[in-house]
Amino acid sequence: MNEHDSERIAGVLIADGLEPTDDLELADVVVLNTCCIRENADNRLYGTLGHLKSLKDRRPDMQIAVGGCLAQKDRDIVQQRAGHVDVVFGTHNLASAPALLKQSRLTGESVIEILEEHEAYPSALPASREVDHSAWVTIQIGCDNSCAFCIVPSVRGSEVSRRMGDIVYEVEQLSADGVNEITLLGQNVNSYGRDLGAAQYAPQFADLLRAVDAVEGIKRIRFTSPHPKDLRPETIAAMSECEAVCEHLHLPLQSGSNRTLARMHRGYTAERYLERLAAARAGIPDLAVTTDIIVGFPGETDEDFERTMEVVAEARYDSAYTFVFSPRPGTEAAEMVDDFVAPEVVAERMTRLTELCDVDALFRYEARVGLVEEVLIEGPSKKDAAVIAARTRQSKLVHFKPPEGVFLAPGSMAEARITSAAPHWLSAEFVQATEPAARRRVRIPVTSG
Ligand code: SF4
Repeated sequence: MNEHDSERIAGVLIADGLEPTDDLELADVVVLNTCCIRENADNRLYGTLGHLKSLKDRRPDMQIAVGGCLAQKDRDIVQQRAGHVDVVFGTHNLASAPALLKQSRLTGESVIEILEEHEAYPSALPASREVDHSAWVTIQIGCDNSCAFCIVPSVRGSEVSRRMGDIVYEVEQLSADGVNEITLLGQNVNSYGRDLGAAQYAPQFADLLRAVDAVEGIKRIRFTSPHPKDLRPETIAAMSECEAVCEHLHLPLQSGSNRTLARMHRGYTAERYLERLAAARAGIPDLAVTTDIIVGFPGETDEDFERTMEVVAEARYDSAYTFVFSPRPGTEAAEMVDDFVAPEVVAERMTRLTELCDVDALFRYEARVGLVEEVLIEGPSKKDAAVIAARTRQSKLVHFKPPEGVFLAPGSMAEARITSAAPHWLSAEFVQATEPAARRRVRIPVTSG
């Protein structure tokens, strides 16, 4: 969500006449888009602002703006700790960034504007995408849950779903612009539509998947993140039946202990989670499942952790993002200081968990060896430009060498036979190109006379 906000901040500034640059020395405006879900977000922000101070002293005309959820949360503190910041804006008014920068330039004063509500639905704003063929599409902002470790509800507000027609229209525009892969974004996509009218008329996430699947030119649909407690049979059916919806489900577990899940306010038990997972695997052929797990949540006992190991062993994930608990100021869990788990205990648990997850991941990745997979080309591998990096429908990273003379553009599709596996990537041999990358639509300006 934060990355997509960065794309939109860049988009509104470009629409206002600025040009992007990687060279700080050339920049007229520097925007820091903060994310307080990241560890040490404030230290990183103030460290970067410290570096920028000497640049600002040399070039007082250069403007510095701070946006994002840390700005939303800390408001005046940013200005107090870094008086050389020209503009502070929050998560709800990123569309105002150009106007606030102009106001500050005209008055010579710092401007702070933090709203509690969205002034425009963010996806209605232009976005400057880093990748031509792949795009984020926001379907919902905010969150109505209250997970004890999470700062999102207090910085992003309560859940607001975007109208389905607006989402489909945006996807159609993206497709016309050469995009063939979209990722639907929301804090809890499974509850999409709940706020869009009376229950019998409100669209569900499954309806949205079907509507977006019908857009011509979209070959792959992904989404993040679904909350396990709201994973409905209708969503599983839509995932199974929609051709473009990829066979990949990210289902955050967080903990396998019912006691810890209750303390986290997650709204499900381990048994319920495993039931939903089993239903998804039964309903969607060849489904890859990934997850998030927090180790060392306050009060997590050895027994709680063993429950997590048991659930992970049963789930056999394709991949797991494992996090050591770290308190986010302003959350309920950050107040549970008396229950914080000793770092050496957490480290030992983390080692055991990652070893187990790697064994499962290798098992899932090795199961692909010998299969011919449809892959979407991302571009040359970062380590070796002669090797292509691509993704399978299950979102597994694949490396292969194209035959001499064959050029595979980012966004094009091919088939590759998987030859070997590691816990986090696959090696393959090229079989054939299947679809070229769509051309970006060229807009010809209409002039009179
Ligand atoms: S569902 Fe929980 S973890 Fe996810 S954004 Fe909402 S409060 Fe945070």
